[in-house]
Amino acid sequence: MKRHGLLILFLFIYQQCFCWGFYAHRKINYYAVFLLPPQMMMFFKPHIQFISDHAIDPDKRRYALAQEGPRHYIDIDHYGTYPFDSLPRGWNDAVAKYSEDSLQKHGIVPWWVQIMKHSLTSAFKEKNGAAILKYAAEIGHYIADAHVPLHASSNHNGQHTGQHGIHGFWESRVPELLAEKEWDFFIGKASYIKNPGDFIWNRVLESAAAADTVLRIEKELSAGFSADQKFAFEDRNGKIIRQYSSIFAKAYDKKLNGMIERRMRQSIFAIASFWYTAWIDAGQPDLKSISSIHFSEEELKEFEQLNESWRKNEIKGRVHE
Ligand SMILES: [Zn+2]
Repeated sequence: MKRHGLLILFLFIYQQCFCWGFYAHRKINYYAVFLLPPQMMMFFKPHIQFISDHAIDPDKRRYALAQEGPRHYIDIDHYGTYPFDSLPRGWNDAVAKYSEDSLQKHGIVPWWVQIMKHSLTSAFKEKNGAAILKYAAEIGHYIADAHVPLHASSNHNGQHTGQHGIHGFWESRVPELLAEKEWDFFIGKASYIKNPGDFIWNRVLESAAAADTVLRIEKELSAGFSADQKFAFEDRNGKIIRQYSSIFAKAYDKKLNGMIERRMRQSIFAIASFWYTAWIDAGQPDLKSISSIHFSEEELKEFEQLNESWRKNEIKGRVHE
C-alpha cells in the first residue's frame, strides 16, 4: 500500500531533467576557468561565480522562448548514418538543402556554438566586460550540450526503445553521484582552435557515435536488475522521487568505462579553448583595463525574467523528463 502511494506520488511530481543537469553545467563552466592563461584568468577568476551560475541560463530560457530548444541538440541520425555526410556542415548550404524550418526542427547546436563564438569574440574586441561574461557563460552551456551523446540522437530520452528517463540518468544522476567524489577535473591548459566549426562538428559526431553505447549498456545492465534494485525512492529537496538507484548508477558508470567523466572533461577543455580562441581572435585585448562590469537595465531584466519563467512556466518545445 505504501509503495502504491509512493508510485502515485511519483506520477504527480514533475521532475524536470536538463541538459547535463544544472549541477554538471555549473561545474563544467567553473572548472574551465582554471585552464585559461594568466592574462584571461585575472579577469575570469573574480567572476567565476557568475560564469558558473549563468551556465544554466540557456536552459532557463527554454521556458521563455520556443526558439531556444533547438540550440541545445541535433538529431543527427535524421540525416542518415554516421558520419552523416549528406548534411552540409555550413549553415547556408544546409539551409539550401533542407530548409531552415527543418533544420530547426531537428536541432542546430553545432551552428549555434559558432554564432556564440562570434558574439564572444566581438565582446572581447569591444572590451565589454558584461557581454564577455554573459557570452562566455552561455557558450559554455551549448558546447557542453554538444558533448552529450543523447543530444545527438533522435532517441534522446530512450523513448523509442523503452528506456524513458535515460537522458537525465546519464547527464544528471550519474555526475551528481560521482563527479565530486571520484572524478578528476585537473585538465591542463586551453588550446587555440584553428577551425571552431570543424572542432564542434567533430565533437557532435563523437556524441552521435556514443549514443548507441549509452542506450545499449543501460539495456544490458537492466536485464540483470529487478525494478526494485534498479530504482529507488529518495528524498530530494524535501520531495520523494523515484530515481535510478545508486547501485545501478555506479554499475552503469563502470560499464561505460569512464565515458561520462571523459565527456565532462572534454567539455571543460573545449569551453576554455573556445574562450581562449575568441580572445586571441579579438587581438588579445588587455582585460586588466576592464574596471567595472555594467549590465544594462535590459540585461538585468532578462536575468530576472529567466528565473521567473523557469519557476512558473512549462518548458517550450522538447522535454526530457
Ligand atoms: Zn541545454
